[in-house]
Amino acid sequence: MLKKNEIYRTVVSGFTSEGLGVCRVDGCAVFVPNAAPDEEYDLRITHVGRHAAYGRIERILTASPDRCTRLCPDAKRCGGCDFWHLRYPAECRIKAQRVTDALNRIGGQNLPLVALTPAPTCEGYRNKAQFPVAMGKTGIEAGFFEKGTHNVVPVEHCRIQPACAEQARSAVLRYARRWSIPAYDETARTGLLRHIYVRHAEATEQVLVCLVVNGERLPHEDDLVDTLRRAVPGLRSVVLNTNTRSGNAVLGETMRTLWGDDAIEDILCGLRFRISPRSFYQVNRTQAERLYGKALAVAGLTGTETVLDLYCGTGTITLCLARQAKRAVGVELVEAAIRDAQENARRNGIGNAEFFCADAGQAAQRLCAAGETPDVIVVDPPRKGLSADVIEAMVRMAPQRIVYVSCDPATLARDVRSLTQQGYALTHAEAVDLFPRCAHVETVCRLERVE
Ligand code: SAH
Repeated sequence: MLKKNEIYRTVVSGFTSEGLGVCRVDGCAVFVPNAAPDEEYDLRITHVGRHAAYGRIERILTASPDRCTRLCPDAKRCGGCDFWHLRYPAECRIKAQRVTDALNRIGGQNLPLVALTPAPTCEGYRNKAQFPVAMGKTGIEAGFFEKGTHNVVPVEHCRIQPACAEQARSAVLRYARRWSIPAYDETARTGLLRHIYVRHAEATEQVLVCLVVNGERLPHEDDLVDTLRRAVPGLRSVVLNTNTRSGNAVLGETMRTLWGDDAIEDILCGLRFRISPRSFYQVNRTQAERLYGKALAVAGLTGTETVLDLYCGTGTITLCLARQAKRAVGVELVEAAIRDAQENARRNGIGNAEFFCADAGQAAQRLCAAGETPDVIVVDPPRKGLSADVIEAMVRMAPQRIVYVSCDPATLARDVRSLTQQGYALTHAEAVDLFPRCAHVETVCRLERVE
């Protein structure tokens, strides 16, 4: 039995999906932050739970050559990143291994290590920042939540964010200090400013700043707009979002544009995309282009196909597919995203794409019942993966190919297993790193119907 606070000698044998090292002690898996591959430790057990134990490195006995000095001084506390203590190639190996292990162990495959496309840069790549706001010792501050808590770490310079995110954050804080705007207090549910939310369209250099407020307005909104306009080159839009509810959702119900447009526009894969505050848009544009390029390549379109794109967001993948197919149909749950998708089709002069706002499962069932037989189905679900009704309807529609874009290797592997038991074979799998320094990884798979 593992004992809390005791020290055990052990070796890192793998990594969890959250980027924690896995060490075996007395037959138990112990999860360890800041671990590097194959290192040997004296490990202090910090927590013994029913399903898992956690430990802290007390002493490194053999340090990995993959370990390096953290470029981010806040990395240990901040809940944003996981891998600043590792060289980037080691992070990529861990991610490729994780995808491979999931597909083999959960997905029932027998693959050699899958290829992973690394990012060209680990810094400034994100086009979206959400800074929670809190009252600190010296006044209002904004940063990121500490790992596992809602304490705000006022990270001075987040290295994965672009300059405009910092410019917007400090401008909003200057305005807030000038007028003594109170930060929102989660426990008392008082105060005003909850989040500073920034979106950056890299190709057009347009910036949207959204203030999430526990109320319908902020004092001196004109001064807020002026301060932002002076500080943020490329500013196109300032939006106020009202969120008076408790809970973890960043955005609340209503949006009010304080200045400029209510959305910005980016260029991705040669197409123009409208990005409104609520719509999903991949946070790493360069790597998203590569991911979509790979999805498109494995879709193998010749121009004669009907393609169904489930979980289409603002139609990014759908419109790429439409350019190479006879007809593309996109399905998405969020209404604002569907409106963006329709507008995006119009902006790009694409006439062979249709969009439906619906649950993917219900839409797939309906399309199947209506006798649709798409040649290719593309799915790009959120982390929980495909629901049973999506898989069932897909199998009945019997497309030649299914292209699965996934942000969670474990649910991907579960769904791959299910599809391979129902007439499909996995014929391609590769990973793309969209989130350098963080544990997340994207995967593209192709499944083909076997006669
Ligand atoms: N393919 C898009 C979006 C992928 S993110 C892109 O790459 O930009 C996943 C999308 O699935 C989100 O837009 C989310 O709103 C949507 N979604 C989540 N649950 C859904 C459901 N049950 N039915 C349809 N869409 C859903």
